[in-house]
Amino acid sequence: MKCPSCNSEAIRRSRRRGPQEGTALRLKSEAPFRCRDCGLRFIAQSDAPDPGGADRHVSFADYLGLRGWPRRVFTDEMILGSLLAAVSMGLTVALFALAYGWIDLESLRAVASTPIR
Ligand SMILES: [Zn+2]
Repeated sequence: MKCPSCNSEAIRRSRRRGPQEGTALRLKSEAPFRCRDCGLRFIAQSDAPDPGGADRHVSFADYLGLRGWPRRVFTDEMILGSLLAAVSMGLTVALFALAYGWIDLESLRAVASTPIR
């Protein structure tokens, strides 16, 4: 990206002027920039993701505030995968428990219907 006035490549992202400009620019995926050399402020197509934007992907690691090695270990895929594994394991155990009569549904119902004194 180059400055439209002096053709300098020393461009930095400029602050948006209020929420109205911010919303209008974000809809067009444009952003304000400022030239370091001549100080010109101009609007251009923004290809870099907005660091403070609401559309930024937030992973589980971000949500949990993980930093360093746990962040690399607890990826979204890993967390979702282990959740899925835990759920299917729980379902399997429940199925076996019912099939082998480890859980007696009749006695459970009797316990539930017994009034507590
Ligand atoms: Zn310039």
